[in-house]
Amino acid sequence: MRLFDAHNHLHDQRLPSDAAALLADCKKVGLEKMVVNGTNESDWDNVANLAQNHPQIVPSFGLHPWFVPDRSPDWQQRLRHYLGAWPTAVGEIGLDRWKPGLPYDEQEEVFLAQLQLAAERNLPTSIHCLKTWGRLLELLSENKTPDRGFLLHSYGGPAEMIQPLAKRGGYFGFPGYFAHERKKRQCEIFRQVPAERLLIETDAPDQSLPGERVTHPLGQGLNHPANIAAVYEAAAESLGQAPESFAAQVEENFLRLFAP
Ligand SMILES: [Zn+2]
Repeated sequence: MRLFDAHNHLHDQRLPSDAAALLADCKKVGLEKMVVNGTNESDWDNVANLAQNHPQIVPSFGLHPWFVPDRSPDWQQRLRHYLGAWPTAVGEIGLDRWKPGLPYDEQEEVFLAQLQLAAERNLPTSIHCLKTWGRLLELLSENKTPDRGFLLHSYGGPAEMIQPLAKRGGYFGFPGYFAHERKKRQCEIFRQVPAERLLIETDAPDQSLPGERVTHPLGQGLNHPANIAAVYEAAAESLGQAPESFAAQVEENFLRLFAP
């Protein structure tokens, strides 16, 4: 089976620094491509360097809501610079009303500026959303989105928003974390995602699978990107699908959204 990781952070400093070794493990389990998401100005260079050296990486550049308060005055110019060199994907961007102490005020402005960049260039974009699904849907309805669509990374929203989001071009990312018993309800919600809009993600080094499903343990609850095969298995199982045809469908979806 050919596997595709729609969202991770391979450059994250919590992961072992030998990216080539991590990628060799990923290759052994069948990984073809992964989207590596920058989250702030200081990691865009690392993402670009990884992509330069490893063709299986689709680099993505964006300012995550957690880092909005730290942005520099010329962050947009810098982002345009990276997207000029690597016109592949925008993200991770988003809105977050969950993280304690994180100001919300400037998040929408920063999110919309990046959504606009993605829409202008018709680049796929990876969206993080916590505790503000209604407002996200409003913003996606009032603003232009990329014609090719966008990824709702680790979709944790309600069932009734799947159709309206899909109508606007949404793809829905299923992470290994959803295989935990306490996420059973979200797995049931995922059964309503249209087959052609489903994607699989590790979100490594975060969102680990339940311990008994982890194939590549790293300690401290860190998620190795080569756990991707186990995430596919967990997702196919909880959606009641045959692994082979499920993987073929996810491949089609991934290539439709992320192929250059
Ligand atoms: Zn992420």
